[in-house]
Amino acid sequence: MHSAEEIIGQMNGPTDSDKELIKHAYDYAAEAHKDHKRYSGDPYMIHTAAVGYKLAEMGMGPRTISAGILHDTIEDTEVTSEDIKNEFSEEILFLVEGVTKLSSVRYYGTDRHNESLRKLFVATSQDIRVLIIKLVDRLHNLETLHFIPEKKQLRIARETLEIYVPVAHRLGMGKLRKELEDLAFPYVYPDEAKRVQESLSSRFGNAKEMLERERKVLQKKLADAGLYEFQTSYRVKGLYSLYNKLKRKEWDIDVIYDLMAMRVVVDSEADCYRTLGIVHELWRPLPKRVKDYIAFPKPNGYQSLHTAVTTQNGVILEIQIRTKVMHREAEFGVASHVFYKPATASDKAGKPSMFSSLIPSLFKPFSRRSAKLEEKLEETAATPHYKKIPQWISEIGQTYNTESDKPTSDFLADAESDFFSNRIFVFTPTGDVVDLPMGATPIDFAYAIHSEVGDRTAGARVNRKHVSLSTALSNGDIVEIETRKSARPSRKWLETTKTSLARKRIKHALDHPEE
Ligand code: MN
Repeated sequence: MHSAEEIIGQMNGPTDSDKELIKHAYDYAAEAHKDHKRYSGDPYMIHTAAVGYKLAEMGMGPRTISAGILHDTIEDTEVTSEDIKNEFSEEILFLVEGVTKLSSVRYYGTDRHNESLRKLFVATSQDIRVLIIKLVDRLHNLETLHFIPEKKQLRIARETLEIYVPVAHRLGMGKLRKELEDLAFPYVYPDEAKRVQESLSSRFGNAKEMLERERKVLQKKLADAGLYEFQTSYRVKGLYSLYNKLKRKEWDIDVIYDLMAMRVVVDSEADCYRTLGIVHELWRPLPKRVKDYIAFPKPNGYQSLHTAVTTQNGVILEIQIRTKVMHREAEFGVASHVFYKPATASDKAGKPSMFSSLIPSLFKPFSRRSAKLEEKLEETAATPHYKKIPQWISEIGQTYNTESDKPTSDFLADAESDFFSNRIFVFTPTGDVVDLPMGATPIDFAYAIHSEVGDRTAGARVNRKHVSLSTALSNGDIVEIETRKSARPSRKWLETTKTSLARKRIKHALDHPEE
């Protein structure tokens, strides 16, 4: 189990009060979960400590890490919202409650609803940090999925591929996405996973050794060319994304050029282009495989230069060349921008990336600060507090394609269409999703469930509290309708209901009182 000290050890220069906060959250969660075990039989705290640790590793701020450590307290222990607010802060409560609320978004295995579920997932979270905590929570749950009853395993794994993976992808969180995919894949498609694994190992049994050899060749060449500040690494393509590609290529593994990739991380954009030249001098490039995602970033902000080459040993390699900042973005996506401050001077001197230029304009729909001031705040604020989900994330509901390499120039235009300004998503007590217009009331909800429920509505509870029938519902509310056989629609309902379905039914009932 990760200790509080280990979590702190992962943070970027925490202050004394940051350290205090983490320790306090840790001890508090440990006490709250003390009688509570995981399916594995391990103490529950293993899970929450792991979530805190992963968040720290990603460079998240102290409040997000603390909320990660506390994320299951309200849902699974005696601890109340009041307790978290008094013991910590309103902000940490907001994050913990957000994560708690998100756990009611469930995937029921109907593909028809995936798009709304993704949108709902994002709308419900309300704050980018809530989403990040939830994604990390899911990652650790997948890592320990083999302990969980079989029936639950499949639901969780499918939900991960259908909902969490596209969200992580849209947020540019490449590392997390790959981890989620490869953990969930064998549970959802066991036979296919086996087949992909087999074709990979029969073709490249000793991929690691081979890559290591090619890496040394490349390192020497770069140094000979006078490039000293660089790091190299390599990766084998994730099984799930390889599976998706193999399906499209008739299972011919030899035509997949990005199966193995070598990464070169350098100091500046200029060095990226220079490195590309050196690589092409060393190894023969494959035609039409050079892609400049620095000049034309992918829609989720990804930036790098890509090329594919054949080495002297006949190995086909994809080469990815990027700066440190681009690398961090590729791994952590939106998380790296909200919380990470670039350190090197050369990175600052370069052109701001598409991602960072998007952030100030899209994250502040509620403020009217000037762009200059916004920039200043970006630089000075330790943890900018973004209350709103940026509009561009509303695209998450759309089908995504990991291999769509074309940068879409109309990305910004698309981002303007704000789905969430018109619709809200609320839940039934069993977690089903109901899609309603903004301002809809429990009456609208009741009629959306069934006209019979609407006609017999006597009262409503929202998030377990009694409310008046004219209350406007909000995103993520859990709505319960109380019916009574003797209840009848009232004329007053017409003043507040928003859906035409409800209004039609109410009018009908008023005109036919004896029915
Ligand atoms: Mn959890």
